[in-house]
Amino acid sequence: MENKLRLDIVTPHGLVLSEDVDEVTAAGTEGEFGVLPGHVPFVTTLKIGMLILRKDNKTEYVFVNSGYAEVSPDKVIILADSAERAEDIDIERALAAKKRAEERLAQAEKYDFARAMAALERASIRIQIAERKVPR
Ligand code: ATP
Repeated sequence: MENKLRLDIVTPHGLVLSEDVDEVTAAGTEGEFGVLPGHVPFVTTLKIGMLILRKDNKTEYVFVNSGYAEVSPDKVIILADSAERAEDIDIERALAAKKRAEERLAQAEKYDFARAMAALERASIRIQIAERKVPR
């Protein structure tokens, strides 16, 4: 489709999203990046973060848990460990995961610190997206 980008978000659990959009912003490990139709091809790794898609003047937020992005002029493919659209985020589950991670971080000698930090990051961003407390 002219002047659109096909965005596919794929996880081991299945296809999360496949849509024609106007713009994608994602959290690369080297920093946030934006893609419009016609972008030069590149591949990058993704960190735990928020993907923002704009489509027909609407903005949607999607949780993306690490992975890769492959960008070509008419397509963005996201391969992530897990991903959810805002409306599919179970906020109670994320709040429970956040509490669990915080408890583990408070007993750092008993738990893997990096693992608990990553769990806290996932839960915090899920909560932000689900509550639409997004910084823009
Ligand atoms: P938890 O400790 O609650 O399992 P997690 O961050 O360890 O959270 P992931 O490993 O990222 O979970 O994801 C495992 C599966 O569960 C994926 O399919 C993911 O989409 C789903 N999932 C995890 N947390 C949520 C949530 N709060 N709402 C909806 N789906 C979730």
